[in-house]
Amino acid sequence: MKFATKAIHIGQEPDELTGAVTVPLYQTSTYAQEEIGKHKGFEYARTHNPTRFAWEANLAAMESGTHAYAFGSGSAAVDTLMRLLSAGDHVIMAEDMYGGTFRLTDKVLRRFGITFSYVDMRNVANVEAALQPNTKMIYTETPTNPMMTITDLRAVAEIARAKNCMMVVDNTFASPYFQRPLELGAHIVVHSATKYLGGHSDLVSGIVATNDAAIAEQLKFLQNAVGAVPGPFECWLLLRSAKTLAVRMEQHAANAMKIAAFCESHPAIVQTHYPGLTSHPQHDIAARQMSGFGGMISIELGSLAKAVDVTKRLKLFTLAESLGGVESLVCHPVSMTHGSIPKEQRDRLGVTEGLVRLSCGIEDVDDLLEDLESALR
Ligand SMILES: *Cc1c(COP(=O)(O)O)cnc(C)c1O
Repeated sequence: MKFATKAIHIGQEPDELTGAVTVPLYQTSTYAQEEIGKHKGFEYARTHNPTRFAWEANLAAMESGTHAYAFGSGSAAVDTLMRLLSAGDHVIMAEDMYGGTFRLTDKVLRRFGITFSYVDMRNVANVEAALQPNTKMIYTETPTNPMMTITDLRAVAEIARAKNCMMVVDNTFASPYFQRPLELGAHIVVHSATKYLGGHSDLVSGIVATNDAAIAEQLKFLQNAVGAVPGPFECWLLLRSAKTLAVRMEQHAANAMKIAAFCESHPAIVQTHYPGLTSHPQHDIAARQMSGFGGMISIELGSLAKAVDVTKRLKLFTLAESLGGVESLVCHPVSMTHGSIPKEQRDRLGVTEGLVRLSCGIEDVDDLLEDLESALR
């Protein structure tokens, strides 16, 4: 079955009781039991919820996984999967990544005796060089937030498998429509479902998928034991959103490609970072492992004053954190999403005060181009 069909049908079969074509919203905390020890397999909603199970089955299918586990946010998903580790374990992480993930590892998980090495994953040799005898996990994000750098997933997965480490990929930016890391050898995929999976800027959620039965068993245990589960309404909204993921992603990417080309040739823009441009240093790797380049672009305007000026003048691109919704957004990473990353690290990565990140929505691209043109004038 092809992607768009899976997205609409897997986990989303008509309801057995009534024939309802959308999965019912089971807004309940518990389930009546017939007698002690006799029930329908549903006991308590942290552990069992049919709406959540439907969404988990749906996302697992979209990611070519066998199992998925949903969480209250992307951050809760990352936190729970990190609990696969124990004190004394070492993790190799991409140095250019979502600021909140860095904050979680550096400010919270480190206190529990897990050590982290942050490396430039554009070069696979850096991963190899950072391996230690106690390395248990390699964690990456691609394309990265906000510099749009690419990790060669197949090459890093080979290293992880040779060293018996788990390989985890944050697939939030690409979405499973454009990139499926499990097919390239990763063990675990994690999403902030708040972004493209939700797609309408109306919910916060997270999800993890795997195709490894032993890891799935542990994740299921942790999801229930830690308890950072989403409410059923978020899962219901995500099932709704999954049905349009394929068409939304096509439009996000088509708009982004035109906007990136416009930005690249505009004299007021110093540099345009978009993996779909042939000028992107890792365009070839992106083209090999992604079937499209997504809707995220970062542009370097040269100074904070210019970033302030342009973001103020934009009308259709709303100044806001987050991304992946149908409406276009603009964000200033240094002051908004990446404040928790130390300045020297930000400077090394190119996350400057003049950098602005665009989340290209699915409005008519001519209107978006006109908005940019007049803001830059
Ligand atoms: C937003 C985001 C997260 C965190 O997800 P929340 O749902 O905000 O907790 C993690 N990774 C990436 C790439 C993100 O963009």
